[in-house]
Amino acid sequence: MPKVRTKLVTWDEVVGWCRELAEKIEKSGYRPDIIVAIARGGYVPARLLCDFLDIHDLVSIQVLHWGKAAEITAVAHVKYPYTLDLSGKRILLVDDIIDTGDSVIVARDYITKHWKPAELKVAAMQWISPVAKIKPDFYVDEVKEWVWYQYPWTRAEDTTNFFEKIVSERAKEGKTEWSFDELVEEFKEWYGIDVGEAYYRLALRRLLESGKLEERDGRLVVKSE
Ligand code: ADP
Repeated sequence: MPKVRTKLVTWDEVVGWCRELAEKIEKSGYRPDIIVAIARGGYVPARLLCDFLDIHDLVSIQVLHWGKAAEITAVAHVKYPYTLDLSGKRILLVDDIIDTGDSVIVARDYITKHWKPAELKVAAMQWISPVAKIKPDFYVDEVKEWVWYQYPWTRAEDTTNFFEKIVSERAKEGKTEWSFDELVEEFKEWYGIDVGEAYYRLALRRLLESGKLEERDGRLVVKSE
């Protein structure tokens, strides 16, 4: 059993979900003038929705959530709070997944207040209903048990973070030396997915560059804090 419920998402699945999402939006009768992608997770779905809905206007708003160092205190906020005049426009606000809902709530409230659209509706591929503070107007999957969606656009970042987590957790138990193969095996066990050699190599390079791991006599050694 994996330690963290994780779903490896393929590009084809993303395209399929966005096509389905577009169909739902079309059927509802809502005709957005402009799509606003929540950065960074909303970029790919937003671009696909532009294609499937034949929408030519696409802008973005970046919302930062949990600061890595200050997980509990960090509040979701708009990183570049610029202003656009979207008066009279119908907006479709797009993210990949609604988890806590904090990012989308912050984006929605900011846009409503400062960009003054005529109407705003929210679309996401996944909606984690038991934890989300908001229900999107359009979604494909209602996710009833929390799971980490390993989307293709965060594969390098997630693999690096997952490696880091494994290494630091196991260091607490006294394991401070690894081979590349051991690390990959443990990754597959913990997360129940296989992202492929190229991503493991890339993630490892990042950990070596950041100094979290060191190479010594062909072994990967955990830097003590
Ligand atoms: P929201 O629920 O409004 O999207 P969160 O702050 O909870 O806001 O999440 C911010 C972003 O982090 C999401 O848009 C997504 O890109 C990423 N994320 C959050 N939860 C998950 C998850 N369970 N699986 C994959 N990515 C996630």
